[in-house]
Amino acid sequence: MATRHLQRLGDLWLGSTPAQRLRLRQTSLAMALMGISVVMLHYAVRVGRGEQGLLLWGWTAVSLGGMALVYAAIRSGWSLRFADPSLTSVQIAFAITAAAAGYAQAGPLRGAVFPVLTLILMFGMFQLRARNAYALSLFALTLFAVVMGVMAVRQPATYPPEVEIGHFLMLACMLPAVATLTARLSRIRRRLSEQREELGRALAQLQAIATRDELTGLPNRRQMQALMDQELLRSLRHPHDFCIALVDLDHFKRINDEHGHAAGDTVLRTFAQAGQAAMRATDVLARWGGEEFVVLLPDTGMPPALGGMERLRQHVAALRIDVGGAQVALTVSIGLTGHRRSDTLAQTLERADRLLYQAKAEGRDRICVD
Ligand code: GH3
Ligand code: MG
Ligand code: MG
Repeated sequence: MATRHLQRLGDLWLGSTPAQRLRLRQTSLAMALMGISVVMLHYAVRVGRGEQGLLLWGWTAVSLGGMALVYAAIRSGWSLRFADPSLTSVQIAFAITAAAAGYAQAGPLRGAVFPVLTLILMFGMFQLRARNAYALSLFALTLFAVVMGVMAVRQPATYPPEVEIGHFLMLACMLPAVATLTARLSRIRRRLSEQREELGRALAQLQAIATRDELTGLPNRRQMQALMDQELLRSLRHPHDFCIALVDLDHFKRINDEHGHAAGDTVLRTFAQAGQAAMRATDVLARWGGEEFVVLLPDTGMPPALGGMERLRQHVAALRIDVGGAQVALTVSIGLTGHRRSDTLAQTLERADRLLYQAKAEGRDRICVD
């Protein structure tokens, strides 16, 4: 019960989309750091000056208010219009400014600002590009140089110039080092995401190779076998008819012999495209091997299946395929059969093959049905 309430509170605070949740988690961490810094500065001012004046409360209000604004900008989705919806650079620049203003008030305990400044810059390690990391560290160094200079002039007793010079030198070493680390991480991140994309492309390519016929782009024999197995299982679970047809190009050898192998390939490709276009979207045409194709007509009984195959036959017969200037006509013979529940797929395919043979024997350009 309590955990459910906590979860709902978390959802309310972070939202529901994973990318936004990640951004807001990071911002929440930054807000927590800001909260701790506020407490630290109040302590430092009390130890150093003994009084907490308007300046300190003003700084507190601006620091916490600024972080609240950043949170609102991300939580509301307003920041999605920017290249970096996390507003990383803005958050870091704001925090650096707050840290510099805090440094001017912290007095003897101002050394605590340095680890906080390091932490602030480390937030950039997850998001920043190298260029931004260097720019922000330069911004921090310049800002602190100004604050240290002003304080050394205005309050030399608390901010002795020689101490401030030492502090500045320390920052001058530390900030570029953090920026360099951030830049290196950014390069690693970029390489990783490039590799991930490459892997994704390779996987898609492998999938295509494994399931598609290279010449025609149709599903290959293995893929068609899987599709037929699926249809068989479906038909067992929710009884329905389905049909299978074997389609063989007539006298294809002649086309090869008369016009060359490349022309034969063109005819195969054209048949594949035209065949698919002539069939219903749910019917599947696959290359079974050579110039032989299989059609799976899922959830289809015989009269409609025969209608579909007749449409295919006529569509192919009407084609005039251009092969290097010559026009080639093409016909197909088809063996079509419905799957019977007591049969195996292999038996259905065998029957289709016999019917195809019969269509060839009866003169080609026709459909034999059983
Ligand atoms: P039928 O009407 O009896 O089917 O005669 P056919 O000439 O079509 O049949 P046959 O089996 O004698 O010849 C098939 C030819 O298909 C032989 C083979 O070289 C050719 N072939 C098979 N695969 C390809 C291919 O990928 N590209 C090309 N160009 N030809 C192919
Ligand atoms: Mg043939
Ligand atoms: Mg053949």
